[in-house]
Amino acid sequence: MSTQAAPDQEYFETGALVGVLTTQPLDRILDYKAPEGGCWQGAFVEVPLGPRKVLGVVWGPGKGDFDYAKVRTILKVLDVAPMRQELQQFLLRSAEYTLTPLSSMLRLATRAPGLSDPPSMQKIYRLGQGTPDRVTTARTRVIEALTEYGGLSFTLKEVAELAGVSASVVKGLVAQGVVSEEDRPRDLPFARLDPNHAGKDLTEAQDTAAATLRTGVAAETYGTTLLHGVTGSGKTEVYLEAVAECLEKGRQALVLLPEIALTAEFLTRVEARFGAKPAEWHSGVTMTERRRIWKMVGQGGAQMVIGARSALFLPYQNLGLIVVDEEHDTSYKQEDGVLYNARDMAVLRAHLCGAQVILATATPSLETWANAESGKYGKLTLASRYGPSVMPEMCAIDMRDEKLPSNRWISERLRQEVLKRVEKGEQSLLFINRRGYAPVTICRACGHQIACDHCDARMVEHRFQKRLQCHQCGESKPMPEACPNCEVEGKLAPVGPGVERLAEEAAEQFPDQRVVTLSSDMFGSARALKAQIADIAAGGADIIIGTQLVAKGHNFPLLTLVGVIDADLGLQGSDLRAAERTFQLMRQVAGRAGRSERKGLALLQSYQPEHPVIRAILAGNEEQFWRAEADQRRHSGVPPFGRMAGIVISAPDPQDAFDLGAEMARRNGPLHRVGAQVFGPAPAPIARIRGRHRVRLLVKADKGAPLQKALSQWVQQFRIGPQVRLSVDIDPQSFY
Ligand code: ADP
Ligand code: ZN
Repeated sequence: MSTQAAPDQEYFETGALVGVLTTQPLDRILDYKAPEGGCWQGAFVEVPLGPRKVLGVVWGPGKGDFDYAKVRTILKVLDVAPMRQELQQFLLRSAEYTLTPLSSMLRLATRAPGLSDPPSMQKIYRLGQGTPDRVTTARTRVIEALTEYGGLSFTLKEVAELAGVSASVVKGLVAQGVVSEEDRPRDLPFARLDPNHAGKDLTEAQDTAAATLRTGVAAETYGTTLLHGVTGSGKTEVYLEAVAECLEKGRQALVLLPEIALTAEFLTRVEARFGAKPAEWHSGVTMTERRRIWKMVGQGGAQMVIGARSALFLPYQNLGLIVVDEEHDTSYKQEDGVLYNARDMAVLRAHLCGAQVILATATPSLETWANAESGKYGKLTLASRYGPSVMPEMCAIDMRDEKLPSNRWISERLRQEVLKRVEKGEQSLLFINRRGYAPVTICRACGHQIACDHCDARMVEHRFQKRLQCHQCGESKPMPEACPNCEVEGKLAPVGPGVERLAEEAAEQFPDQRVVTLSSDMFGSARALKAQIADIAAGGADIIIGTQLVAKGHNFPLLTLVGVIDADLGLQGSDLRAAERTFQLMRQVAGRAGRSERKGLALLQSYQPEHPVIRAILAGNEEQFWRAEADQRRHSGVPPFGRMAGIVISAPDPQDAFDLGAEMARRNGPLHRVGAQVFGPAPAPIARIRGRHRVRLLVKADKGAPLQKALSQWVQQFRIGPQVRLSVDIDPQSFY
């Protein structure tokens, strides 16, 4: 199998002119000659570019606008499945949508190492025909181990481990033909998943929802469905039934999860349901495994992938279902490099390949909620929790009445409730959505607040790491002894709480209890974090102190009390989605309590319990909240009822950024013609990051306006100086 065929693509004979898109930032498709033996459209190839060899894809016929004699020839067609038309279309459309060069999209779709290497082989061992010249205990152990596992084959290391002998013993048996040695490709298909392995008995509500989803998948056409149900209502069990249908149809399924720490628990559930583990794609998997997944997905050797948002760009052979779990999660929006929202891109890709999308969540994003309301998406609801568990009771603690001493954040009422839980052997979670020890460090002598040298942001103290850190650029420095401003020593003091400081207070208030902190920056590795989570779930803590990390999908059966330390935190700020985010986060966190038989309680500490968002959370009236929020956004013509783009111009010299911003605001013809308005330039909410001054423009348009086309015409009018950078963010999620 040297050149793999592409059923839905065109074939080019030897010497034919073809256009090749490379991963190099050229923004142009270059002509090459098809190599000896020809090639398919979509073939991954290696081409000469100047003095280098680069990776590319045969994108289509060549343009022929260049002297044929000078056109260079494709060096090599890679031994991987060619890109399907559907993925070509997906890259084109997502490039257009996000105003990103096509070459960057191709880079996203080829993020696996060694694609141009010949398939690498490894030696494997199984029982052979021969008999040993001399019998030793070690040798007998090898023969017994291999006999026990029948015809199965293993790597040298595995055989040695199984038999408890050294590798040289195995090698000795190979020389005598007792053990046979063969070459096998390293990139092997994944174990087959069996859709009928072990389904759970679904409740009636689950069954109805699963049946609808199965019908959708069986039709092998596009459709998107919101699967809405409180945390613990059994959504996962329901969408695994849709996955089962997809596998039965011989198509591939992709499940996107927002957090790596969640994948371990999920893998176990998939294995229980289908009898084998799926492929796992995220930043934590090894390079070798990445290459294997990338190749197997293209050849049909992987039926199911679970992964982070970049798994959307894999070269699936036949994708039939995409599940976006916790679809509202903000981590689906890539905020670096190519600015895309994986949820929206999932819908686009499914459109192009005739697949179904399931958006599963307890608290939909307003976009998804509105699409379901208007009938654009289907909607399925699981109204109650699975089994005897019910949603927790929710109450506010009015902090104005609590009169806490300064530097304390746990109210007396909350403290008492925690102690009651401890007595019953139950767990409590104290939640604060702020990493580090204290958000501000102030000098008590001169009033100076320590700020980042490169950003318009204050440094956050991380006592655990003994450093100050900037949450914008990641810059960190040791905590100084003296104030950098007045040079007085010993007067620097923390102001306000972060998760580490809350942990300190909890340790003081609950000296006899086991207090554990869960914050992403306190763990060296994803594995350490997973282990900690498993330990907590098994009852290894009385009190859990956590950031946003704990809000996401973990299952702690003993947890019955959630205390939200600062429910007002998300309500400040100019973000369009502040209310929505707070509402989702508070409900998610509250949803952690009482997931098994024990009833849960969520207490929200707030200085403004009469705020409409807090009231909606307490009332548990979701529809009412969404309706009010939707009305407000419709009224002001903002997403999802209008379209927006955020433009950020940055430069070392603020004047350069402002000059370009002002010129862009003035020469707005292309935008004006489609009825779009430009606001700004204004300093961005974070006016300086990594030493670059930032200026922001905001473009607003009607829902139907051809915004991307107008934006790209508009941006093309300007000459952008070498020091200046411009980024366009379609449907911005955060405004910083
Ligand atoms: P969600 O995804 O909505 O948060 P899950 O699917 O994780 O909910 O279900 C919550 C818990 O209930 C899980 O432990 C799950 O195994 C269990 N569960 C859900 N449905 C069933 C069922 N039909 N039979 C047995 N256990 C179930
Ligand atoms: Zn900084």
